[in-house]
Amino acid sequence: MVNLPNARPVIGRFAPSPTGHLHLGSLTTAVASFCHIKSLGGRWLLRIEDVDFERCKAEYSASILEDLQNLGLHWDGETVYQSNRMAIYEEYIHALHAQTYACQCSRKQLSEHFRQHPKDAISPVIFSEVLRQMNATEGLNTPPIYPRLCLHSHHDIGHPDSKIRLCLPDTLTAFFDGIQGVVWDNPAKSLGDVVIKRQNGMINYILACAIDDGLQNISHIMRGLDIMPMTVAQLAINHAAHLPTADHFYHLPLLHNADGQKLSKQNLAQPIKHARPSELLVHALTLLKQPIADDMADGTVGEILQFAIKHWDTAPLIHQGSLGVV
Ligand code: GLU
Repeated sequence: MVNLPNARPVIGRFAPSPTGHLHLGSLTTAVASFCHIKSLGGRWLLRIEDVDFERCKAEYSASILEDLQNLGLHWDGETVYQSNRMAIYEEYIHALHAQTYACQCSRKQLSEHFRQHPKDAISPVIFSEVLRQMNATEGLNTPPIYPRLCLHSHHDIGHPDSKIRLCLPDTLTAFFDGIQGVVWDNPAKSLGDVVIKRQNGMINYILACAIDDGLQNISHIMRGLDIMPMTVAQLAINHAAHLPTADHFYHLPLLHNADGQKLSKQNLAQPIKHARPSELLVHALTLLKQPIADDMADGTVGEILQFAIKHWDTAPLIHQGSLGVV
């Protein structure tokens, strides 16, 4: 085997938002990314994405940590809490100031604008076939692109009515996804000028996530398919902020409920608290279409994970949009 001298270390992460307890959907993401990274001999980090101070709760963070420990999904290094990193995000917002502007448009003003200019209200064209199909399967209603009403208004960035928008580049951006194949898009045309900080001071997910993945030198990002449309924004942010980007993306098919909705805290997915850890792991691995040994659920979580890491294979997930209905 060729030994590359400066090969980048393999680092993955699980980055839950503590807006609820771990459920089967978030558990399958955790199990998949843990097994994948460990099968590559890498480090698996835990980052609690608790920037949304209105919806995130410390009790949910504690519960997620406890569940991961009980399931044998032990992370490497210290747990990182985004709520402790506000000063870092502010520094990057400052550094990106040439590409940002303050926006004071309220929802009401925007709906009035869209009423008067119906052409602006049309949902953006999704160029990439993968993203288009995903939007169709998930029934996502992509919001119209922000019509840049405040681009030249020079509002004060520190004003309490100001949110900060970042201009994403109007260029073709592509990335290779180890599950979904080649994904390409134009961030300016599909997402527009994204809000990175809200009026209430809250930093938006995509900014914090992009910065932390860069600063933590994450090489492999495995997460739910629902986040895939934001990946081109993440790449653009890392590029603008001179931060490294992940080399490998894997957007996992989602679990759905009987109504065809993605399993999430919003649609009240059941917390996993009451089930036996070994059975839960076997359930997650079955949903992830991984090989299961006889009587596996009778083993310890350590034994199950050892087997799962040894046999981990993304092949059965390739080009899949759903892990099925639970
Ligand atoms: N915090 C996000 C969530 O819980 C996931 C972020 C990511 O993996 O990039 O949905």
